[in-house]
Amino acid sequence: MIVHVVGAGLAGLSAALALAHARAGIRIVVHEAAPHAGGRCRSWNDLRLGAEIDNGTHAVLGANDAVLHHLTLLGTSDEIHWLPDGPRMIWPARGAAWRLGRPRDLVRAWRQTGGSGVAELATAFRLALPFGATTVAARFARDGCLAEALWDPLARAVMNTPASLADAGAFARVLRMTLARGGPAMRMGVARRSLGKGFVDPAVARLRALGAELRFGTRLRAVGLSGAGSTTLIFAGGAVELRAQDRLILALPPWELDGLMPGLAPRWIDSPIVNLHARLARPPRHAPHEPSMIGLVGTAAEWVLDRGELASVTASAAGELVGMPATDLAARLWRDAAPVLGLDATALPPAWRIVKERRATPLQTPCFAADRKRLLRQPSAPILAGDWTVPDLPCTIETALQSGTAAAAQVLAGIVPAA
Ligand SMILES: Cc1cc2nc3c(=O)[nH]c(=O)nc-3n(C[C@H](O)[C@H](O)[C@H](O)COP(=O)(O)OP(=O)(O)OC[C@H]3O[C@@H](n4cnc5c(N)ncnc54)[C@H](O)[C@@H]3O)c2cc1C
Repeated sequence: MIVHVVGAGLAGLSAALALAHARAGIRIVVHEAAPHAGGRCRSWNDLRLGAEIDNGTHAVLGANDAVLHHLTLLGTSDEIHWLPDGPRMIWPARGAAWRLGRPRDLVRAWRQTGGSGVAELATAFRLALPFGATTVAARFARDGCLAEALWDPLARAVMNTPASLADAGAFARVLRMTLARGGPAMRMGVARRSLGKGFVDPAVARLRALGAELRFGTRLRAVGLSGAGSTTLIFAGGAVELRAQDRLILALPPWELDGLMPGLAPRWIDSPIVNLHARLARPPRHAPHEPSMIGLVGTAAEWVLDRGELASVTASAAGELVGMPATDLAARLWRDAAPVLGLDATALPPAWRIVKERRATPLQTPCFAADRKRLLRQPSAPILAGDWTVPDLPCTIETALQSGTAAAAQVLAGIVPAA
């Protein structure tokens, strides 16, 4: 039996890893369009910055069981730095600062930001109540201090979607798993060195060691399904015929799947994320020993990851910023980030790079949530994986990894008819 996995993002890697570790005598072939693995969660050695950088800062949460499992499996748990008291949040325009590491920090945030009344704080309890399809802003608060200082930044961070558009169902589910549980579930972790070192390179090495074949630079152009149930994969370099016992896992984002097999992917709107990476010129004694993460409220820059010699500044749901020329964008983000790094905001560091991910995730609206739920209820051959295929949760590393393991389990259980 051969299992063809198309896509070597985290979903495809996790599917291939679960199959390889099952040692079920399955031959695994991973087909990846890019010359490297990792997809939207990738790193490279950047010559301009003289460092390995990520396409964008990724944060993981203590409640992310699939993330913890992936890191344990690969022996890379130490590659994640867990922020001991959660990220520090700063609202420069109000001179307010608070942490976001424990449930009671919510009350601190409300006090610090000049919360107008207890009713505003009480909106948090709406988390526990059932509700239909609606947005975060409509469910929690459209305006007021907590809306600006908490709900919108959290919706952007967790869903890459502003609170005014973000699906409240998926958002509330994440908050119930983290904020409401508190403790270790609420921890926020960032890559100590790079995403590649924690999530991707060791996965590729493990797959090779277990005999899986990884074919890079191999874009799937079309999938031929015959009435008789046979499947042909058409790549630029030739076609691959699947035999009756073979299986196919498509671990692709909705926009790729839609081009290959219309009707399987939900309707989506792109939601970009932009990152400024800058090499910092500051005396080593001023550099933090461990990575730190600072959240900014009311500015274009939303998160500042300080790794000592390198800082990465993130703007999520960045539809309005992504079209700006790189130099203007860098200056704008640096102006917000430099003060929290203790550096001069008027001059960009000598080495910097802007990375624009135009399709970081779909805009995760109630419509997107409903559409994918409807589609995922239908049985599909081939097996689908990818961050968007876990209903009721936002598209993240966690859901990408979960989806890969679930796809592998489907193959192993033999419950899916031959593709
Ligand atoms: C800048 C940025 C910041 C983010 N921040 C966070 C964060 O803080 N926390 C978090 O949890 N998540 C974050 N995410 C989301 C996270 O990266 C994704 O949810 C996850 O990586 C998706 O993995 P995937 O395998 O489902 O999809 P992808 O990573 O998109 O993988 C799909 C793979 O398929 C390949 N492919 C596409 N078409 C074809 C084809 N026709 N033939 C062969 N191969 C093909 C692609 O090259 C790619 O490698 C962020 C994403 C970005 C871009």
